[in-house]
Amino acid sequence: MSKLMIIGCGGVASVAIHKVCQNDGVFDELMIASRTVSKCEALKEKLQGQTKTKITTAQIDADDVEALTKLIKSYQPDAVLNVALPYQDLTIMDACLAAGVDYIDTANYEPEDTEDPEWRKIYEKRCQELGFSAYFDYSWQWAYEDKFKQAGLTALLGTGFDPGVTSVFAAYAKKHYFDTIDTIDILDCNGGDHGYAFATNFNPEINLREVSAPGSYMENGKWIEIPAMSIKREYDFEGVGKKDMYLLHHEEIEALGRNMPEVKRIRFFMTFGQSYLDHMRCLENVGMLSTTPINYNGQEIVPIQFLKALLPDPASLGPRTKGKTNIGCIFTGKKDGKERSIYIYNVCDHQECYREVGSQAISYTTGVPAMIGAMLVVTGQWKKPGVFTTDEFDPDPYMEALNKWGLPWKVEENPVLVD
Ligand code: NDP
Repeated sequence: MSKLMIIGCGGVASVAIHKVCQNDGVFDELMIASRTVSKCEALKEKLQGQTKTKITTAQIDADDVEALTKLIKSYQPDAVLNVALPYQDLTIMDACLAAGVDYIDTANYEPEDTEDPEWRKIYEKRCQELGFSAYFDYSWQWAYEDKFKQAGLTALLGTGFDPGVTSVFAAYAKKHYFDTIDTIDILDCNGGDHGYAFATNFNPEINLREVSAPGSYMENGKWIEIPAMSIKREYDFEGVGKKDMYLLHHEEIEALGRNMPEVKRIRFFMTFGQSYLDHMRCLENVGMLSTTPINYNGQEIVPIQFLKALLPDPASLGPRTKGKTNIGCIFTGKKDGKERSIYIYNVCDHQECYREVGSQAISYTTGVPAMIGAMLVVTGQWKKPGVFTTDEFDPDPYMEALNKWGLPWKVEENPVLVD
């Protein structure tokens, strides 16, 4: 029996909270703490008659380490699941250390203000040394390794679908299917249609930053960076059909590159429709994706935050989105001296997710693994002192839990490879 604190109450959090409440044999107490407490209260109201989990709520600004530490100390959870924004990763890790509690998240740190000169100095050095220029990277959180180790606490980073499940797929492939893995292609296909000309499936700020950044992949331990959206492939996805997909920088490449250095090439592809790309390019060209504040009529406005206010709330896309996602990894390598290739993947239906938890499949495919990661930490199955990504534990209990909690996976031998 365990006590969990969830920070954030947006699209992903809502699914994680539903799943925690379904899993009331493990989670008997839950605190939902977020910036806007009315959202936490609305979820509590909806769920408390349907679960044995005792739900409480709290208002918190997770940027305020002192206030958050006080809240964690007063509630005394076994772990904190951070499904607020990547901007809060470091302050929540600091509060967990101060309160002596395990930490779990779904996305690696990036700063809210990318013009901050102190952050920029370190960022520019990293760009030069490592060779990729995305705003997000693991270095900030990996730097907490000694602190978590000394405190005897676990930090589990990036337990969403990608990153998260995709890295578990890699650990599973390594354990059960290969003696050596040569290449990993991570494919993220969203075949869902929400009927809007333009909307993002998760937090628009984070999503647009990720997609508009230069692409990069790892080859023989080195980063190769390419202009945004300049490598395009077509792939025929089960449950979706043929889609164009583009090579992007993505955070699990960094973790897998470090933890599985024998893999010769790691790439990440995501599907996009033409309308999404046209809108994004136009918004970028006119400066609407900028994080630098401008002064408008005497008021300071951050363009991408203003854009977020105009776009549909990702949490509201649930009832409108039809179609399926297909996300997985193609592995090539050798087993018993023979060449082998497999695709491990999950197909998820937007409407089925909506019927079950009131959310579309992007939030669902992130919120379910967030709950699973939290479950494995609080039950002690994935607990060791230090800072880890999901490829660094035994993948078997996680893979079992995916089947049980709504994200069943398949293994296809000899899939079509991506050239
Ligand atoms: P949303 O914008 O829908 O929700 C974010 C929530 O965090 C909101 O409830 C927001 O509060 C709250 N929040 C923001 N700032 C603070 C703060 N300072 N203090 C307390 N609460 C705060 O985002 P999503 O649910 O779409 O995404 C959540 C996380 O999941 C992100 O980190 C995202 O990168 C990650 N993600 C990971 C994926 C994966 O596969 N690994 C895929 C998709 C998302 P308020 O309600 O007041 O706005």
